[in-house]
Amino acid sequence: MKLPLLTAVAAHLLVASGCLLDIERQGGHVVDRRSTLHRRQALNGSSIPISVGDRFSDGKSVPQGVGFHPTGNFSTVYNLAEIDSATKALCREFNLPCFDTPYKTYEQRTISGLKLGGSPHPTNASYTVLISAGIHARERGGPDHLLNFASDLLHADRAGTGLTYGGMSYLPSEVRTALSVGVVLLPLLNPDGVAHDHATNLCWRKNRNPAHAVPGNPHTVGVDLNRNFSPLWNHTKYFVPKGPAPASDDPASEIYRGAGPLSEPETQDVDWVMDKHRNLGWFMDVHSMAGIVIHGWFHESNQFRDPDMNFRNEEYHGKVGAYPDADGTRYREFIEAKDWDAMSIAAARVAGGMTDSTGTTYVGLPAADFTPSSGSSGDHGMWRALTGKGGKKVRGLGMEFGGSNRGVECEFYPTVQRHQMSMIETGAGFMELLLNAARLG
Ligand SMILES: [Zn+2]
Repeated sequence: MKLPLLTAVAAHLLVASGCLLDIERQGGHVVDRRSTLHRRQALNGSSIPISVGDRFSDGKSVPQGVGFHPTGNFSTVYNLAEIDSATKALCREFNLPCFDTPYKTYEQRTISGLKLGGSPHPTNASYTVLISAGIHARERGGPDHLLNFASDLLHADRAGTGLTYGGMSYLPSEVRTALSVGVVLLPLLNPDGVAHDHATNLCWRKNRNPAHAVPGNPHTVGVDLNRNFSPLWNHTKYFVPKGPAPASDDPASEIYRGAGPLSEPETQDVDWVMDKHRNLGWFMDVHSMAGIVIHGWFHESNQFRDPDMNFRNEEYHGKVGAYPDADGTRYREFIEAKDWDAMSIAAARVAGGMTDSTGTTYVGLPAADFTPSSGSSGDHGMWRALTGKGGKKVRGLGMEFGGSNRGVECEFYPTVQRHQMSMIETGAGFMELLLNAARLG
């Protein structure tokens, strides 16, 4: 690795760690409860605006991505209605087997999914890759990028053409290969959080469940959905008490884990999707803004030599984590070498495609070396397979597109230029993910 790259990575890690700012890792918040209108405006000062209206006319007008329509204009972020409308338009235009998940959010919103490719007459068993976005509300642009990529793939396939994302070009045959793996998309996992973030510009991360809220403290509303999945959810049982906390049981924390594993409808919906599609072998959750692509395990570093050293073995309860090892504990999570290799290759390949599309540096690395997290989406599919919940082992990845916007208090809100670059980079990254899945199975 060249020194400039290392420097770039170090800079990224200083800016954000696991979608968290330094102040948040110490228990604070970017915005405190005394926020004024002036402060809110400052938060949104030089970031891309949220769209007004519905550019997709309630599903009558189809979104067009930059890979197939390079002149596409993305000067605003899709609002909630447009995410819904774009989904509806793609499902209608391309006659996709779309679906609504069964568990409604606290504010009674529905999470919708799209299914692409797989086979001429697909069944639930035809899909091997799941990609989701919008789990952290303030990480603006994720749903846009995912929907536009879906549009790119479908338009290129229909026209028999390839796709171009900046410096990365893909042949028509590669478009067909990418679709052949069967892709399930969940463009917006946290609609309540996004609605709140768009309405307030308060850099909101969690969902909006008020069950454990303390009156007078708005930070105690909501659960960090990316700490609410099943794998090692009860971090105080599994992890050593020192070292970086992989989650929190304090509702005021940005990484509050919730009342129990899968206590939230949003995470139940993801679990439901995994349960319905038992041949899923890959999962990617889309985040911003660290400029990295991470792979499982998300809670701990990997090892492939000792199968007994695993989270199901009670001998090791209380010994997980503490990365880097603080007290001589040598715990590392077992993973089969072929799965570790496959995830490493996938992360490197996705990062490489993103880098080569625009020249922005992305690197692939193990998630726990970035920041260890319990109850993460990225480990959930692997956890399901290893604990008898069914399905294949799902290799988990996380994409952190973009970079910090230092021009606004909420660094997750991109500039217009950054949003448009991320659109190109994520398109190349998603293509690499699907082509890699086709190659490795
Ligand atoms: Zn995130």
